[in-house]
Amino acid sequence: MSETTRTAASGPAPWRAEEGPGRILQLITTGRANTRTGIAQLTGLSRSTVGQRLDALFAAGLLKESDQSVPSRGRPSRALTLDHAAGLIIGVDIGEQRTRVAITDLNAGILAERVERLAVGDGPEALLDTITATVRGMISHADLGATPVAGIGFGLPAPVDYEAGRVLGWSIMSGWDDYDIRGHLRRTWQVPILIDNDVNLLTLAEHRRFWRDQPHLLYIKAGTGVGSGMVIDGHVNRGAQGAAGDIGHIHISGFGDPQCRCGNRGCLESLVGGWALARDLRDRRQTKGQDARDVVDQVRRGDSTAVAALRTAGRVLGEAVAYATSLLNPDIIVLGGRLSTVGDHLMAGVREVIYQRSLPLATRQLQIVPTKYKSRAGIAGAAYLVRDHVLDPATLDATLAVGATPFSTL
Ligand SMILES: [Zn+2]
Repeated sequence: MSETTRTAASGPAPWRAEEGPGRILQLITTGRANTRTGIAQLTGLSRSTVGQRLDALFAAGLLKESDQSVPSRGRPSRALTLDHAAGLIIGVDIGEQRTRVAITDLNAGILAERVERLAVGDGPEALLDTITATVRGMISHADLGATPVAGIGFGLPAPVDYEAGRVLGWSIMSGWDDYDIRGHLRRTWQVPILIDNDVNLLTLAEHRRFWRDQPHLLYIKAGTGVGSGMVIDGHVNRGAQGAAGDIGHIHISGFGDPQCRCGNRGCLESLVGGWALARDLRDRRQTKGQDARDVVDQVRRGDSTAVAALRTAGRVLGEAVAYATSLLNPDIIVLGGRLSTVGDHLMAGVREVIYQRSLPLATRQLQIVPTKYKSRAGIAGAAYLVRDHVLDPATLDATLAVGATPFSTL
């Protein structure tokens, strides 16, 4: 299976007896069964068949028995869990100004981390080479060289063709358009390399860590730019060309038509993006702010003009999110991004307009919540992206069937 094949389903999948250890591991990692008896009951497989499949997973180093014992008929049995130390994941979260690089375990737990002032403006060649050197240094410094690497997950602040692993069309990443990022990294790393838009990774992180049982999640990032991501039926939906969720550049009527950085006028981002709020505050108050960070600083200082601007921005953002709510009928909307980190000014406006505009059927069970992550959601999303891919039952079964090890030592 290729790196770009759809990743593992988080929801229930029909069991077929011929399916192998991969599906058993999925039952364990999704918490649906964690004992031999539980797996046998859920799958209808005999205990000896379950035992064989588990043996394959133990032999591959993917499973361990936890200290927790589970009551069952007869003697209590030890709970089975994924051995999250079986492989390393390299997560890279490239931002407009800074890049966060981390080594995680298979549970997205951070083992080593560095934040560098590497910016997209440095261009792909220089940036990717520096990241490669940084990762090598981190692995050696943390003495992790003996652990195999499961894969690399890469987040970029731009629309990404997920299959091709390339930046698409207009973005703030000039010079990266259509650059073969995976080909470049492949010179050093012969492991699965998955590249996605940063907001998709934030969306995946929220879903996999906190809301796995909710099949439909909409994530809104309100920072210097504005974007969204969606999980539909447990999968991140990227659309036909990787442009799904580009909510920042839909036109919103009735609020003037300011110039947007994409070249159009009146985009949502030109009204509520951090750069647009900073522009409005500059015009009114002769402040020098440029981006979401500056706006948040002003709100924190109690500047009433900045607070009012953020409240209004929440209502305008709510208009767009209300459309998306009608279209997608999510279980949950998560609001993230820097503008959402200062009080509930933005959230209050978003909530108000969604409940006004949407039909009761779409909002009756809807939860609208702030993100629980602080600054590591991008890294967590990159790690979950890799984990979903490498532990996908079909991928794993194909690997184990030829007697290969699931991850490679560098
Ligand atoms: Zn625009």
